[in-house]
Amino acid sequence: MDKGNPMEDALRKIAEHCVEGGVLIFTGAGISAESGIPTFRGRGGLWEKYDPEKVATADAFRRDPSLYWRFFLDVRLPILKKVKPNPAHYAVTQLQKDGWVSAVVTQNIDGLHQAAGTEGVLELHGSTRRFLCTRCDFRCGLEEIDKILLESFPPVCERCGAVLRPDVVLFGEALPAGVLEAAFEAAQRSRIALSVGSSLVVYPAAFVPQHAQSFAIINLEPTPLDGAAVAVVRQKASVALPRLVEILKERR
Ligand code: NAD
Repeated sequence: MDKGNPMEDALRKIAEHCVEGGVLIFTGAGISAESGIPTFRGRGGLWEKYDPEKVATADAFRRDPSLYWRFFLDVRLPILKKVKPNPAHYAVTQLQKDGWVSAVVTQNIDGLHQAAGTEGVLELHGSTRRFLCTRCDFRCGLEEIDKILLESFPPVCERCGAVLRPDVVLFGEALPAGVLEAAFEAAQRSRIALSVGSSLVVYPAAFVPQHAQSFAIINLEPTPLDGAAVAVVRQKASVALPRLVEILKERR
């Protein structure tokens, strides 16, 4: 054991609270930062360059959907086409395979947990890899939207001509009720929730880890909930989570 190493000490403390099938993993933009997807907040976050009021609110989208779609074309699409999961996403999959995990709940909209092989991910804010018509039941994926965007901007439904939108929760919209309820229920059944790469300031999502018996935090910067956590790991998710996998394997 690496004595006097704060990350090691905190991870071992977290491991003490882990029981089989009792660990809820709650993730935020920080877990995908090392895959090359900018976070919203924090150093280098997207909101340093873009105004969320202009591109990511439901009102802004209703007023002028082309602003969102310009942001999507210039920023989101090029990133989504090339990003891959990083060791932190694979560590979540490993924890699930090893039987520790009660549920994986993510605020992320990038689909990288699924790309890393994690199953049953509860996406609180939807996915920016899925799109739907604002009028009819037409839906499509990333490849198709790429083609549609070549023909129409903002992209319109090939069936009814209404504008298409991402299957994400824009600011000012309610979270999908079934998914939020499932996340709260899973948290209530969990011995510990592990919040990874989240600033824990976006509600109601940030309530989810607080519904577990206890929670711990892996995040590069302080969060408002640090004081209530059983342990805080101030380290990159891609370093901390694979180490937690190893520590839990030792306990078998
Ligand atoms: P956030 O941007 O508010 O906070 C991210 C946190 O991650 C910061 O506190 C930062 O210190 C930390 N961080 C950065 N790199 C890290 C790393 N390598 N390891 C550990 N921590 C790291 O993100 P949030 O709490 O998820 O809330 C913001 C909202 O942003 C969510 O609703 C989500 O839908 C959306 N979002 C999603 C993505 C994505 O899908 N990848 C990206 C940006 C924003």
